[in-house]
Amino acid sequence: MIKNFLRVVLLVGGLLSVGGAAAQPIEWPHHKKAAIVLTYDDALKSQLDTAVPQLRRAGLKATFFLTADLDYITLPRWRKLAKEGFELGNHTVFHPCINGEDNPVSSDRYTPNQMMREIEVMNRMLFAVDGQTNRTYAYPCTETTVNGQDYVDTLRRYGLIKYARVGGDTGAVITNPATLDPLRVPALGLEGWRRWFEQATPMADTPVSRTAPPPNPVTLERFLAEQV
Ligand SMILES: [Zn+2]
Repeated sequence: MIKNFLRVVLLVGGLLSVGGAAAQPIEWPHHKKAAIVLTYDDALKSQLDTAVPQLRRAGLKATFFLTADLDYITLPRWRKLAKEGFELGNHTVFHPCINGEDNPVSSDRYTPNQMMREIEVMNRMLFAVDGQTNRTYAYPCTETTVNGQDYVDTLRRYGLIKYARVGGDTGAVITNPATLDPLRVPALGLEGWRRWFEQATPMADTPVSRTAPPPNPVTLERFLAEQV
C-alpha cells in the first residue's frame, strides 16, 4: 500500500510497571518528553534512495517492513542496512488486503492459517537477509482481518511475531506500555502525524537541536523490548 507508507509509533510520558511493582512514571533520557519510532512499509526503492540517506544524515535509525518485493539489486542494500542497525520487519510476502488499486492480492482468498504460513515464509526470507530470529510485523493495509476473520489471536498462538504494528489516527499514542497489546501496537500514518504535530503546540516549547544526533535512535523491536 503506497498511502501512509511512513508510520510513527509514539510513546508519550506514561507509567511503566516492572515485575508487578507499582507503576512508575517513565524517565526518558536527557529529560525528553516522548519517544518516536519511525517505520516505513512496502520495501520501496525510494526508501533506500531517499529516506535512508536522510536518516543517516540525521543520525536516526528506523524500522522497514518488507514484503518479498526484493530483487538482486535491492536485497543486498537491505542487508547492509540491517548490519548498520536498521531493523527489517515482516510485512508478508504478497501484501494481501482488501482489494484496491494499490493492492492486487486480495485477502478475501486467505484464511488466518494461510496468513500464518505466509508470515512464516517471510520470516525465513528475512532470516536469510539479516540473520535475525526476533521479528516485528506490520499488518498489510493495517488490516487485522482476512476475509472478515480477525487473525491477531491466531498470530499470538503461532508465536511467529514478537510485536505487531496496527494503524491508528491522531489518538494512536501509547501512554501506558503496561496495558499495550504487543500485537496491536498503534501507529500514526503520515497524514495523522502531520495533523498531530500541528495541534501539539504544548510539546513544542523545547527547541529541537539540529546539530547533534538524538541520544538513542531506536527501532521498533528495541524500543518495545525495553518498554513493554
Ligand atoms: Zn503496506
